[in-house]
Amino acid sequence: MGRVTTLRRAIGEGVAPLVDLVYPPRCPACGEGIGEQGGLCVDCWNDLAIPGDPSCALCQRPFGESGPDEGSICAPCLGSPPVHDGIAAGTLYTDTSRKLVLALKHGRRIALAPLLARLIAARIPQAEDERLIIPVPLHRWRLWHRGFNQAALLAGELAKAGCGTLMVDGLRRTKRTPSLGGMGAKARARALAGAIAVSWADSVKGRHILLVDDVLTSGATSTACVKALKRAGAKTVVIACFARVLDEARVHT
Ligand SMILES: [Zn+2]
Ligand SMILES: [Zn+2]
Repeated sequence: MGRVTTLRRAIGEGVAPLVDLVYPPRCPACGEGIGEQGGLCVDCWNDLAIPGDPSCALCQRPFGESGPDEGSICAPCLGSPPVHDGIAAGTLYTDTSRKLVLALKHGRRIALAPLLARLIAARIPQAEDERLIIPVPLHRWRLWHRGFNQAALLAGELAKAGCGTLMVDGLRRTKRTPSLGGMGAKARARALAGAIAVSWADSVKGRHILLVDDVLTSGATSTACVKALKRAGAKTVVIACFARVLDEARVHT
């Protein structure tokens, strides 16, 4: 640390990012110094909430230790049965997972994407048939604005980790949708109606799909994706995300 500080002072703050690149071992969530590139500091590891069991049989929402038994179904799923075939979430949405998603969006993606994908891969149930990995698509305009789709980045890492075959353009946006934050469930569904299409129906027909997103919030977008995939004949669609929001009220994006 002392060495980096001295170097910074010597070279000047203007080239600090270059120094960061040369002396990289810092926790991507909090900036604390760590021993090795590619990980998190101990505090941040401890603050990551890995969804545990028992959990809902349909959506894997954890019930907590005093919750219902394995095989039970959670209240939201009882209220409206999901169209997907399960949710594999690397973490639950906490302050630390939010910071990691932001860090992925705003740089540091080369170091972070494999780490986040590893956490997701650990939660994906084994499957006999090979899966197709398809990211939730960003609209062209947003893609251009941001430069990359972090869902696609994670999907690519999951493919590298052996979770299936990547089909990066398997889904596409057919129209621009407003930001869904603050909308009710019905308004969201209306905004998304017809907004997502399968690119090549033949290639998803009869297949098992892993639908990838970075953060799973209301599920409105992923539901629209799952419906499009199932209409095209997909056999199953499991949603894989890095951070799953269980209480929507906590998210301000
Ligand atoms: Zn940290
Ligand atoms: Zn459920």
